[in-house]
Amino acid sequence: MKDNEYKCPICNGSDLTLRHEASYVYSYKIDSDKPGLLNSDVFLSYQYDKRENTNSRNYIECNQCGTQFPCNFLNRIIGEDD
Ligand SMILES: [Zn+2]
Repeated sequence: MKDNEYKCPICNGSDLTLRHEASYVYSYKIDSDKPGLLNSDVFLSYQYDKRENTNSRNYIECNQCGTQFPCNFLNRIIGEDD
């Protein structure tokens, strides 16, 4: 892993993690067998009928001091190859 040029503005550490945090609601139709039209023998949570993303956010977290950075800091990293 090569060193990155991004530093935490609080502690100046470079051990940073990009996080994508999301909330989903999974729906399973109740039918004659297991809940979910795709489930018949066992209930498998990934065999859902509908998934709604109710909330999501991206941020960067410093692994050294725990500070979280907002999206504008993130966009500078993601837009690097543009
Ligand atoms: Zn830090």
